[in-house]
Amino acid sequence: MHWYEMKLDGRGHTSSALSQVCRPDRAADVPKYLEQVGKNGIIARGSGSSYADQAVNVDGAVMMTGRLDCIRSFDEKTGELICEPGVTLKTITELYGPRGFMLATATRSGQHTLGGAIAANIVGQNGHKRTSLAKSVNWIDVVLANGETVRAGNSENADLFKAVIGGQGLIGVIVLISITLLKRPEENVVVERRRLSDLNELMESLKTARKTADFCTVWIDTSARSDAVGRCILTTASFTKDPATEPLFSFPKIKLPLPYPVLYFTSLPLFKNLRYRLSFSLGKKVEPYEKFLYPSDHVHLLSQKGVYQLQASFSEAEGPQAIRRILTELSQTRVSACRAVLVMTKEDTLSYLGSAQRGYTLVLDFIRRKGLEDFLKHLITVAGEHNGRVSVQDDALLEPRNLVLMYKHLEEFVKARETYDPQKKFDSNFGRRLFSKEKKNEQ
Ligand SMILES: Cc1cc2nc3c(=O)[nH]c(=O)nc-3n(C[C@H](O)[C@H](O)[C@H](O)COP(=O)(O)OP(=O)(O)OC[C@H]3O[C@@H](n4cnc5c(N)ncnc54)[C@H](O)[C@@H]3O)c2cc1C
Repeated sequence: MHWYEMKLDGRGHTSSALSQVCRPDRAADVPKYLEQVGKNGIIARGSGSSYADQAVNVDGAVMMTGRLDCIRSFDEKTGELICEPGVTLKTITELYGPRGFMLATATRSGQHTLGGAIAANIVGQNGHKRTSLAKSVNWIDVVLANGETVRAGNSENADLFKAVIGGQGLIGVIVLISITLLKRPEENVVVERRRLSDLNELMESLKTARKTADFCTVWIDTSARSDAVGRCILTTASFTKDPATEPLFSFPKIKLPLPYPVLYFTSLPLFKNLRYRLSFSLGKKVEPYEKFLYPSDHVHLLSQKGVYQLQASFSEAEGPQAIRRILTELSQTRVSACRAVLVMTKEDTLSYLGSAQRGYTLVLDFIRRKGLEDFLKHLITVAGEHNGRVSVQDDALLEPRNLVLMYKHLEEFVKARETYDPQKKFDSNFGRRLFSKEKKNEQ
């Protein structure tokens, strides 16, 4: 058993910590490492792309799952894939895309490990068709705090299943996964990009897109004011039999890390205005599905200053009003997000800590600056006033009282944690921020 010290942070660089780190080579080693865990417990970490403190554990231990990346079997008839948690979504797409299969959820990045994506209950650009990746999971094998490996699925240890999915690693370590890959209907998708002038036009267009498009995502100009609030570029895509169109010229897909000044520029009204007005490739084009996938992997934006993400899910009824209120506040206060994306979601997720509900999920990224945290806490309150649920998956600022108001299955999650890990062997900065008793008493 080998441990070493390492400084780890979240992708948003708002939380970092020195931890004792281990990298098991085999699933059978996981219980042995768990036996050696001391103060502040241990947390699993996949590719570490959660924005905040979800996979960070100050003065504690972190288990990197990247080497647990064996594929055990794939059934061509049913699409059932059995593999370890360290396999990335991109690897699955590269291996099984050419054979006509696809993951049920089309996420923005393929860098996530399957274990991390399940533990974060990841949603995608097709959230209005399939709520979350977790819905396609048949069962998972979880190593619990006592070292025992337990299988959990919808019909077997369902409480454990619902707690581990979206549970941010606080219940146990996922060491084996059975997931169903879908038959990809066609090789290509027809992608359409349209400029929409305000929120009313957006909401009308989304009603149609919900019914007709296989994928739908919206880039919002958060600097737009008064009547133009909600102006955006709507991207929809649907599978098609049409052949892919070879563009005469296409922009190179940059895979370079872009430094802070570029990130800063993306938050300026000038950039947003230019992007809205000059947006390239508006109209329709047909491209291979695999090319359309994982748009976030082309550019890696860096900021050592830190980036906060606020992701809130609203019902169909409350969504338009809540989104208008948040966007109006952003434009009035001139707190511009460096990225603002809206996706639709189909239904409540099955996990106890899942945030998605049938309606809309608004995702906002902000560069850290003075006074921002207070403003974002205010937006969390606004979301709560509209019965929204702020997602725990990349959040850095939720407080225990927000969870109590927003998550109707919170008690079940807490109960599952008490049942499966009464000593809190699995813990993280995130876990202590939101679930430690001392903190609750302080309030
Ligand atoms: C560029 C980018 C694009 C993104 N796109 C999307 C998107 O389209 N949709 C979306 O919903 N989110 C998205 N996210 C955020 C997403 O929530 C997480 O970043 C991702 O799911 C985490 O996968 P990971 O392997 O990096 O896990 P980590 O960040 O390493 O961990 C995430 C959580 O899972 C737990 N965990 C990891 N492995 C295991 C395991 N084996 N067993 C138990 N628990 C485990 C960790 O403890 C942690 O709490 C994006 C983030 C980035 C940076």
